[in-house]
Amino acid sequence: MPYQAFHNFFPQVAKKETRVITIFDQYTDKVPAGEYSFVELFCDERDCDCRRVFFSVFSSKHNEQVAVIAYGWERYEFYVEWLHADSPDIIHDLQGPILNMASPQSDIAEDILEMFKMHLMQDDYYMERVKQHYKMFRSKVDKQVPLRAKKNKKIKWRDVKKFSN
Ligand SMILES: [Zn+2]
Repeated sequence: MPYQAFHNFFPQVAKKETRVITIFDQYTDKVPAGEYSFVELFCDERDCDCRRVFFSVFSSKHNEQVAVIAYGWERYEFYVEWLHADSPDIIHDLQGPILNMASPQSDIAEDILEMFKMHLMQDDYYMERVKQHYKMFRSKVDKQVPLRAKKNKKIKWRDVKKFSN
């Protein structure tokens, strides 16, 4: 599943609305004080309405990504329909929240996942905003498709020749 950062499409909104958790003291044995930014990414596949978010969590202390969390906020039945299969194991992973298996994770990733569950998942206002970002992102992606198709139609023979050598 291809995914792309929300801030690529909406840099101004992302600047204001990306959640940063500031830890003043040690959070756990492994997680030191610092700022933890939950950068949102969404799937940019054409005609896909998977209703999931990926959080690339960036730590100011480590100065790098320390976890990638996948979370699907819809009900179980929604993913049965989306998947065209009632597969509990797969849907369990689609819903999460889990550490995304295809992404590199650090040794503090498990604790970061706990941080998400404790502080962000419980925050209805925040989660509504993430869903809103998803809608904005989707409408941008879906609008891009006809534009791209139009562009392709305009390719002239001389351009094709230029590229074919
Ligand atoms: Zn998708």
